[in-house]
Amino acid sequence: MLKALANYAATPSNSRGRLYPEAPPDYRTEFQRDRDRIIHSAAFRRLVYKTQVFVNHEGDLYRTRLTHSLEVAQIARTITRAMGLNEDLVEAISLAHDLGHTPFGHAGQNALNECMRDFGGFEHNLQSLRVVDQLEDRYPEFPGLNLTFEAREGILKHCSLANARQLGELGQRFIKRHQPTLEAQIANIADQIAYNNHDIDDGLRSGLIKISDLTEMRFFSDELQITKQKYPKISERHQAKAVIRRMIGSLVTDLIETSVCHIQALEPDSIDMVRQCKSPLIGFSDTFLEAQKTLQLFLRENLYNHPKVRKMTDQAHEIVSTLFSTFLADYKRMPHEHAINASRAHQEIGLNGSARIVADYVAGMTDRFALQVHEGLKKQSKNQ
Ligand code: MG
Repeated sequence: MLKALANYAATPSNSRGRLYPEAPPDYRTEFQRDRDRIIHSAAFRRLVYKTQVFVNHEGDLYRTRLTHSLEVAQIARTITRAMGLNEDLVEAISLAHDLGHTPFGHAGQNALNECMRDFGGFEHNLQSLRVVDQLEDRYPEFPGLNLTFEAREGILKHCSLANARQLGELGQRFIKRHQPTLEAQIANIADQIAYNNHDIDDGLRSGLIKISDLTEMRFFSDELQITKQKYPKISERHQAKAVIRRMIGSLVTDLIETSVCHIQALEPDSIDMVRQCKSPLIGFSDTFLEAQKTLQLFLRENLYNHPKVRKMTDQAHEIVSTLFSTFLADYKRMPHEHAINASRAHQEIGLNGSARIVADYVAGMTDRFALQVHEGLKKQSKNQ
């Protein structure tokens, strides 16, 4: 049976609406419409060929940005439903949260940020917003996907004050230090729960980390102990899977129980009261916050900085930087539409404008397309 939504949940009736007003949908809620527009977007389809940690062609079984986004949505929906909040909205935010990611994960983002240093910088959160607000081009009535304020607010997890000042109503919460909806807060933490746990799973699959390394962490070893007692005869592989499942379950349970306590203490009677809080209401207990931080630190030290992963990220850095500098020096080396847009932006705004068009083009690439274009450029320069 469907539970009624809490009076502080986001609903279509308390929504701040869309930038371009539209008639309400017949058979869907406004947030279902947001989710559907995201799923039908080109940027969403490209997530399947974008790296989470391992480059797409390294193996078929590793997470990609697409499967990561689906896992985030699944975890976020469980939490949201248990708390009587809006599942449609949290699903839309979760599926859209990584749309602005460059090829090659964080290495690509860091490279593009360095390239854009003199032209306003590059930040994947802002880029996700740019994708849904401007870059998706499929509706005659408006640019982008014209999502609700609440979906856009959820996509923009963080943002500098300088950028917030350029974003009108959407930037206000960073200036006033207010909070987004509870659904946005949940999508944000579900993202962390998903990547910490699936990166451990992928790390084990790759052989770059081992169960014996993981037992250094109390959280992991406690869950492993319980698993061993429950299933003394299972293989190491099954053990690892069971521990990861248990860790996700424990994190989700703690998050729900702690957040419900925060809400009960405040007794919010409206979404505005949630927004005006000084700190997020969705959060872990101290013990689990610590466990989550330890997982993050372990992954940084043992997986993200592993020499094999570093080799890949160094290559990615080189590819993204070369693509950016080549296209910025000669717009015509991009496809016609992008070249025209870059020339126009250069005339109207200057180099900041054209660099942004080049960054949009490079950021939109999948891993394999970026590799292909880079190979093409190398061949061209050899033949010259
Ligand atoms: Mg993510």
